[in-house]
Amino acid sequence: MTELRTLKVALLGCGNVGAQVARILIEDADTLAARTGAKLELSGIAVRNVHTKRDVDLPQELLTTDADTLVKDADLVIELMGGIEPARTLILSALRNGACVVTGNKALLAQDGPILHEEADKAGVQLSYEAAVAGAIPILRPIRDSLAGDRITRVLGIVNGTTNFILDQMDTTGAQFADALAEAQRLGYAEADPTADVEGHDAAAKAAILASLSFHTRFALENVHCEGISSVTAADIAAAKDAGFVIKLLAIAEKLPAAGTDTGTEADGGDGVSVRVHPTLLPREHPLAAVHGAFNAVFIEAENAGELMFYGQGAGGTPTASAVLGDLVSAARSLVLGGPGRTETTTGHVPALPIDAAVTSYYIGLDVADQPGVLARIAQLFAEHGVSIEIMRQTIHRDAESNVESAELRIVTHRASEAALAATVEAVKGLDVINSVTSVLRVEGV
Ligand code: NAP
Repeated sequence: MTELRTLKVALLGCGNVGAQVARILIEDADTLAARTGAKLELSGIAVRNVHTKRDVDLPQELLTTDADTLVKDADLVIELMGGIEPARTLILSALRNGACVVTGNKALLAQDGPILHEEADKAGVQLSYEAAVAGAIPILRPIRDSLAGDRITRVLGIVNGTTNFILDQMDTTGAQFADALAEAQRLGYAEADPTADVEGHDAAAKAAILASLSFHTRFALENVHCEGISSVTAADIAAAKDAGFVIKLLAIAEKLPAAGTDTGTEADGGDGVSVRVHPTLLPREHPLAAVHGAFNAVFIEAENAGELMFYGQGAGGTPTASAVLGDLVSAARSLVLGGPGRTETTTGHVPALPIDAAVTSYYIGLDVADQPGVLARIAQLFAEHGVSIEIMRQTIHRDAESNVESAELRIVTHRASEAALAATVEAVKGLDVINSVTSVLRVEGV
């Protein structure tokens, strides 16, 4: 039998994910060698402090604080430190040295993806990052490779487990946002500072990556409209539930046709792509409505494949390590067989559209005076702004003390532009029969 070639693997970071990657690289060395056609030798693990107690027992001599030297001598570099620096400099240095790089760093990719890809292309090596979006779920490779012969029209993703856990708690128990967040923190699903999750920043970085691969155009974080879930109330959830909907934080990337046409153009992305993250109402029978707890899922619509759904664990050391090792084996095979293989294509050249151009359905809650003719006035005002109403439901309340009656009106519109909806809501606020606009939320999947 011929001796297998040895490829040196440098691991940067030994935290939640890195420690599990190191464990699997050591425990499953024979299996990985058989799958790859080369021995994957873990040459070192860069950390901040070599004396920190780790989740797994690892040979102490592998740990080092000298990441620069480790990278210089590696065929494959796995970056699992997180953050922008020194991860960015180390990845660039690895690529310039001709090493393939695997990373799970969505924040860095959303900020500096184009520069990293440029260096990988120049060096003719692979840069892969399956773990950066939806943890263990194989989603980037299916978009990039399996759907390379199709045209994706829309991607809807539950890509942040923390916010899905919080919204699911609110939906199933009736809890307020603050209580559901406290429960998520108690169970370890949310960090002490939950801002990046609850304000949608983490999901926005993943939306930029999903949109870039789906529409063959590089989208950056600044192209993503981002709204979090901290203003979603128990009343919003209850009203949505009552109307047959569930509220999810969705990362959405969709091709929008030329204004006034139904189909758009022949370009990969149509006339433009709307990339956004916001709380969204989904019909309870939509496949994404069944994604509970901290799970993730991505729902894709493509011209020829139709509807596809990918579901699984979006975080956690071992599940995420699975995605990292898949990328590592693929990159190692490219070194064994020669040639980098294509990492992504950017021939779409479609513009990112501003949020005003987004087209979706809306749920609007109104507190109105209980008087004859109110419904007709509101319906007319919607019609005047070109927003057509799909469902209008009224519930009457009587204040026990004042004995005054008021009505709660719930409206679901047909698809309309964000600009038309905003103008309609402003006009509705001006009506003397409106006490308040209690909620305005976007709806998908109807
Ligand atoms: P983590 O637990 O915070 O671990 C980070 C590791 O990097 C630690 O071992 C740390 O060393 C090391 N490190 C940080 N800064 C360093 C520096 N300047 N020099 C040398 N070493 C440094 O992070 P994680 O949860 O494993 O996440 C790693 C990456 O995977 C992130 O980009 C994250 O977004 C991504 N990701 C994570 C998950 C998940 O479920 N956790 C899921 C998907 C993607 P010390 O141990 O000595 O402090």
